[in-house]
Amino acid sequence: MADNKSRVLVTGGAGFIGSHLCDSLIAQGLDVVCRDDLSTGDRGNISGIQGEKLFRFDLKSVEEFFDYDVDYIFHLASPASPVDYYRMPVKTMISNSRGTENCLELARKKGARMLMCSTSEVYGDPGISPQVEDYYGNVNPIGPRSCYDEGKRFSEALCKAYEREYGVDVVIVRIFNTYGPRMRKEDGRVIPNFVCQALEGKPLTVYGDGSQTRSFCYVSDMVRGLKKAMFTPEASGEVINIGNPREIEVLDLAVLIKKNTGSGSEMSYHDLPENDPHLRRPDISKAKRILGWEPEVNLETGLDHVIKWFSRNGW
Ligand code: UDP
Repeated sequence: MADNKSRVLVTGGAGFIGSHLCDSLIAQGLDVVCRDDLSTGDRGNISGIQGEKLFRFDLKSVEEFFDYDVDYIFHLASPASPVDYYRMPVKTMISNSRGTENCLELARKKGARMLMCSTSEVYGDPGISPQVEDYYGNVNPIGPRSCYDEGKRFSEALCKAYEREYGVDVVIVRIFNTYGPRMRKEDGRVIPNFVCQALEGKPLTVYGDGSQTRSFCYVSDMVRGLKKAMFTPEASGEVINIGNPREIEVLDLAVLIKKNTGSGSEMSYHDLPENDPHLRRPDISKAKRILGWEPEVNLETGLDHVIKWFSRNGW
């Protein structure tokens, strides 16, 4: 378990989830170095902790070699929104190959624990629901999402290779859809899109007929889950889903956001992106059993926070 002398590296620590994680680690009194090249992150996300003695920001990519004295490594650095990884497919693959290798080499050298932030996208367009960790997935290896899906699958395989060959202490977390303050307006993901469109009175852009499902986890629950996975000794070598099991159709989400913003926006229907998974819902029994973790923030409450945040921060 981490004590207040523990040193932590967070790659992608200026991003949406990474910056909330850095806030929480600093609040706990841990020494944090954040490495981020700001390709999708934002300096504003870490402005609250930038002056803290325990916090250091290194404006560099994970693709370049690095060396820090650390006990724990959270590897989050990667484009994570479909809009971003369609724009940067090569960078996405390199962050999840060379970037992951650099993290694992550091873990090996320092005897640190490495937590790989993987994704529900490793399940692709799933043939089972809910998705349980021992499901192998249904991924198109050459489709537009493959840079991310296969990049993360490669990261997971590399983690297991380092564990088997060098005995590196690795935990893999599969992150399901997460939302909260600090998502970018232009991020392209469904919640910032719908909330900003509703606040602006513009049509809500529903892709396909909106019958596809997602399950949304509020960012504070996600951060709590990631920390539990990192600091629970029994999580070593495990692959664990972290997400909220409440499933909702995209069209119902649009209706809910329209109602909660009091918006008069219409719906506008657009083509479904290629290989867009038709459903996604985590089985979180393993997280409950090993970590004693489950989400606490319900969708309505979380959406209220996000709506207020986008209202305050302009859209
Ligand atoms: N989506 C939508 N309208 C938007 C953005 C996304 O209908 O403006 C849909 C998208 O096709 C997908 C779901 O919402 O089925 C979630 O998309 P997102 O990009 O948030 O994340 P994903 O789960 O696909 O990685």
